Amino acid sequence: MNMICPMCDQGVLREITFTGDYAFNGGRIVVSGLKGCFCDLCKSDPILSEQITENQVLIADAKRREMGLLQSKEIRAIRLGLGLTQHQASDLFGGGTNSFSKYERGEVLQSAALDNLLRVAASIPEVMSQLKEHHRGDRTASLYSVPIAPNVLIPSGRDVNIGFAKGMNFKRFTNSGWTKGRAA
Ligand SMILES: [Zn+2]
Repeated sequence: MNMICPMCDQGVLREITFTGDYAFNGGRIVVSGLKGCFCDLCKSDPILSEQITENQVLIADAKRREMGLLQSKEIRAIRLGLGLTQHQASDLFGGGTNSFSKYERGEVLQSAALDNLLRVAASIPEVMSQLKEHHRGDRTASLYSVPIAPNVLIPSGRDVNIGFAKGMNFKRFTNSGWTKGRAA
């Protein structure tokens, strides 16, 4: 890491690790190994965005340990072991759009119910076929079979019912984020 300090524009930032202390579940959790930067010249200590991303996982995992939940890497390992993309896992297990991306990045903690389901799905193969079977009856199952490039920004307000069968659920990305729709 060799970055000029954004605060004083002269010093060189060096990476530091620190220990954070957070209120959680009526108590406190202490998380060590968090990353940040320090400028020896102006003494400022900015945290870069990629460090925030890494710290987020460490903090979420500490909370999960406290609650006896699967860690970020374990969730990812189970998902990959089941042969699912993050989108497919979010769709199949529920929890909302991009839920697995959020769990794995430590942005959101999984519920205890989902945690249990993941453990069961990971150890009993029949669970997956049951889930998929159940899912087929769900109309929103078509959502992820509709290919939409996630980085295509469609100006909000514009009708995007292109090529969808009538009555089919779809998602579109507008300036306000992902919204669900149904082709008319
Ligand atoms: Zn500085």
